[in-house]
Amino acid sequence: MWRLASAPLRPFPSDPMPVQKILHYPHPILKTICRPVTVMDDEIANLVTDLIDTMRAGPGSVGVAAPQIGVSLRVCVVDVSQSKLGRDNNHGLLVMVNPEILSREGAAIMREGCMSVPDYTGDVERATAISVSFTDGEGIPQSVEASGFEAVAIQHEMDHLDGFLFLDRIVSLKTGLFRRKNYR
Ligand SMILES: [Zn+2]
Repeated sequence: MWRLASAPLRPFPSDPMPVQKILHYPHPILKTICRPVTVMDDEIANLVTDLIDTMRAGPGSVGVAAPQIGVSLRVCVVDVSQSKLGRDNNHGLLVMVNPEILSREGAAIMREGCMSVPDYTGDVERATAISVSFTDGEGIPQSVEASGFEAVAIQHEMDHLDGFLFLDRIVSLKTGLFRRKNYR
């Protein structure tokens, strides 16, 4: 799960939800390449529900990936529609099983944060537009052209599926890593 460093902090929703505990760096699952999903069964449906609930509960969160809640499978969710930077250009809730980036364009540096790295934010360079294919939560193949903030969020979440954190992609360890004072 990650959030933009400057996103406004929101209190946890009052409704109780099955929010899962987020694993923190340097937990080994976060550094592991996740396995592809082979069957869309109840286990995957429950995982998707947990990911969505956990994302919604995170302060300013726009995505979460399965390894962050301890499941080493290639599943992540992204939703930038509630964020200031993403609300004008997004596909709403994206449930992505076995996502693959088909093409990427452009490059821009943005400050990123991650619930698995609660004490830091960092400047990361990402493609500004991507084409991505995946299986959705209903088991239907999809492809999406994403740009701007949504494209960045998707790339961040997909990195988790390959064992990468934003820490691995900081533009400069000297000038691009920032200690976070107040995460919540
Ligand atoms: Zn993250």
